[in-house]
Amino acid sequence: MVTIGADLLEAIKKAASIDCAQEICGLLVGHNSTPGSISITDIVSSRNIVSNLREKQFEIDPTIRIRVERRLRDQESKIVGHYHSHPRGAAYPSKKDLESAYEPDLLWMIIGMKACKVEEVRIWRLNAEKIAFRPIQLCILS
Ligand SMILES: [Zn+2]
Repeated sequence: MVTIGADLLEAIKKAASIDCAQEICGLLVGHNSTPGSISITDIVSSRNIVSNLREKQFEIDPTIRIRVERRLRDQESKIVGHYHSHPRGAAYPSKKDLESAYEPDLLWMIIGMKACKVEEVRIWRLNAEKIAFRPIQLCILS
């Protein structure tokens, strides 16, 4: 299970709605709480640096990841995953997402949208064989 504060989730949803011509993206920062569950405690937005088809794919700025990793060094918190929006799609991983996924430890939060409105948010993780995503339960803390 993954938990996230309602305010953090709201910030992601707002960013996705405001910038719905492209996939928005960013990093999820958190820590392991009880065994098997992860608390997301912060988000760090990134520019979508993919060079074309930004409405269909995303790439997080690697310099942001390095900066966050450096900031979190010696801390309990770490990068636990990332988020991105599907401006015109469901909150399910696309074929492109599967092709570009290679870190089984990372959570994938996907924001499914329709007409610039967020429809649903789901969390996924690559399975150990790296051939499919499996859903992870998301719990929103108010
Ligand atoms: Zn995607």
